Amino acid sequence: MTKIIAIANQKGGVGKTTTAINLSAAFVKADKKVMLIDADPQGNATSGCGIEKGQIEKSLYDLLLREEKIKEILRKTKSGIDILPATIDLAGAEVELVAMFSRETKLKKALDKVKAEYDYVVIDCPPSLGLLTINALTAADSVILPLQCEYYALEGMTQILNTINLVKENLNEKLFLEGVVLTMYDSRTKLSAQVAEEVNRHFPEKLYKTIIPRNVRLSEAPSYGCPINEYDPSSRGAAAYAALADEVMSHA
Ligand code: ADP
Ligand code: MG
Repeated sequence: MTKIIAIANQKGGVGKTTTAINLSAAFVKADKKVMLIDADPQGNATSGCGIEKGQIEKSLYDLLLREEKIKEILRKTKSGIDILPATIDLAGAEVELVAMFSRETKLKKALDKVKAEYDYVVIDCPPSLGLLTINALTAADSVILPLQCEYYALEGMTQILNTINLVKENLNEKLFLEGVVLTMYDSRTKLSAQVAEEVNRHFPEKLYKTIIPRNVRLSEAPSYGCPINEYDPSSRGAAAYAALADEVMSHA
């Protein structure tokens, strides 16, 4: 069975892309067939996987707006992930999609044709709740919500949870919150522990046991175009994402 997971939170800088890349890479290490979809016009998941902007001929933009075939767009990364890259064109897609017929289901329809070939499809969402995120949530089976361990972590939660519910009611009945993952945890600060406690009170059944520590190796890896399990397999970041992948896989 294929599982399609959207990594979403409308806040920027909470660890969505880091989680999308490293979870995908950890799934590959566990012998899973994985597609990673970069749905953010910034293209950080694309470059973080070692695909350079200059080498991208077709991107998610062409799939959403030009009906390009998904297989013509997918690229294999060095780590064995099939990536659907994004370029800055995608920023225009938010606006161009508005006038289109079945604008919310474009990604879902394209994925329906190929998803059987994959164990996991991971979608890295942009920091907004516009049509790109709606396309991701409509195509997905479930959502992983990364929360940065900081004072305002829970602010904006109602917005993303409302959006998930709206998509569930109108576009994708089966959608559910797969789990909440705390990122950039700093064990030296009281604040991180307080945030963890508060999130646990709000989502007692949804919070992953694995907490992603703040680890400088995780922030260095993208500039080498590789996931943490290749850049520094012995780092705390690599161990954390491997453990998170195990948890996700155990909730089949
Ligand atoms: P988002 O996709 O939600 O905007 P990113 O994954 O791009 O967030 O993370 C924001 C920044 O924080 C990036 O520079 C990234 O390298 C860094 N970062 C993410 N997770 C960690 C972590 N656990 N430890 C240290 N730096 C991190
Ligand atoms: Mg991102």
